[in-house]
Amino acid sequence: MRALNRRVNLVNSGQVEPPQLRRVVIVGAGFAGLAAAKELGCSSFDVTVVDRHNYHIFQPLLYQVATAGLSPADIASPIRSILSSQKNIRVVLANVSGVRVDERVVIAEDRHIPYDILILATGAQHAYFGHEEWAAHAPGLKRVDDATYLRRRILLAFEKAESEQDEVKRRALLTFVVVGGGPTGVEMAGAIAELARKALAADFRRIDPRSTRVILVQAASRLLPSFPESLSDRARHALQRLSVEVQLDQPVTACDADGVRLGERRIQAATIVWAAGVMASPAGRWLASETDAAGRVKVGADLSLANHPEIFVIGDTACCLGADGKPLPGVAPVAKQQGEFVGRLLKASENSTKERAFHYRDYGMMATIGRKSAVAQLGRIRLSGMPAWVLWSAAHIYYLIGFRNRMTVVLNWLWNYVTFQRGTRLITGMSGSRMEDMGMPAPMEPGATTTPVSGA
Ligand SMILES: Cc1cc2nc3c(=O)[nH]c(=O)nc-3n(C[C@H](O)[C@H](O)[C@H](O)COP(=O)(O)OP(=O)(O)OC[C@H]3O[C@@H](n4cnc5c(N)ncnc54)[C@H](O)[C@@H]3O)c2cc1C
Repeated sequence: MRALNRRVNLVNSGQVEPPQLRRVVIVGAGFAGLAAAKELGCSSFDVTVVDRHNYHIFQPLLYQVATAGLSPADIASPIRSILSSQKNIRVVLANVSGVRVDERVVIAEDRHIPYDILILATGAQHAYFGHEEWAAHAPGLKRVDDATYLRRRILLAFEKAESEQDEVKRRALLTFVVVGGGPTGVEMAGAIAELARKALAADFRRIDPRSTRVILVQAASRLLPSFPESLSDRARHALQRLSVEVQLDQPVTACDADGVRLGERRIQAATIVWAAGVMASPAGRWLASETDAAGRVKVGADLSLANHPEIFVIGDTACCLGADGKPLPGVAPVAKQQGEFVGRLLKASENSTKERAFHYRDYGMMATIGRKSAVAQLGRIRLSGMPAWVLWSAAHIYYLIGFRNRMTVVLNWLWNYVTFQRGTRLITGMSGSRMEDMGMPAPMEPGATTTPVSGA
């Protein structure tokens, strides 16, 4: 106490500088960054969270925004409001373009943000296996803008088919190809099939949306390769019950505005959804550090960078080996647990407690197929059909951030379950010229008779 009093007196008399809070900069407020920030809330660190969006998005439900089941606001929350009660945390809206490791500075547009400890959690983006030109024809699903763009493309395809005179072109408009048989591809294919066969079935006069072809193309020999084989088979059967055509062992060899090529075979399709590959964010380049083939930064057992114990890389951006020596998968629980671990590690280092190695607790995995079927593996327990779907729904509601979002999603799902309806069938974000680009008549002035869009 005497030593402490002496130090306080020295600080008060100006003879000694007050102790500086250690500056932690977290780049990315996805699952990983946000978990780290929450763990460091109300601690002795001065924390800055930088993100290029002002919201955190719950990516596992993005496919429902893309297929008109939910609206973007149902699955997103403002980062500032999530962290508002943590007075030691400030939020900066900016796009980070680099890190000066030697100067310990993050470059975020016109700002240079200094750090003592840096946590990079910038996630991943789509990868087209070296065919970046496919991106224009086969959009992927990663951000809110991707989901609303896909929703527009999907709904517009039906609108355009309704007024198309040419039978071949109409067939192509009513053909949807989903590339990639992982959880996102399976979920997208099931949701498009249900949208066409149930929600839109009675809304058109010239076309029958129930005749829509949904084709799920997978390069591997089975769907959901990370699941046990029996669950892959059940997922395939559930999709086939929804009339989704599952094409296995079929790597895509070309993508263009008119469809896809699978080896020598061509499928004419106006809408292609890319769910086949991801690449880590460019954090590896910023740090000039070693990465794996997917661009993920190789980190040590405590998730820090070799030779830079002050830099941590977590979530989808990191390549961290699991107990079996294989890289951990890019899923939300890994990201969340890594964020929590780094937060705890930093707090513990203040109290000199040791917890130096990250251990992933794997509670299982799930994927849903349509509005009442799913597959789930929880340790040795394997579930499918309705019980798995109930579990999947409960888990997603539980992990959604915000009471309002949880309530809205539950009500939407109940409504959809009972009525088959999709409440957010809005075609948004198009200028007149863009509509014309897609072969649609431009919107008319207010007061004139408007071009009908489907549903609410
Ligand atoms: C469509 C889809 C469905 C999925 N479904 C599931 C599922 O069912 N179950 C599951 O466990 N996982 C699922 N995942 C994977 C899961 O969402 C990711 O593993 C998880 O989001 C990774 O968290 P993260 O924090 O590493 O990255 P993200 O959640 O992607 O967050 C990265 C953050 O960094 C920000 N950022 C990126 N670059 C910059 C920059 N340069 N400057 C500033 N900010 C930047 C972004 O805006 C974002 O907020 C799905 C992913 C997708 C895309």
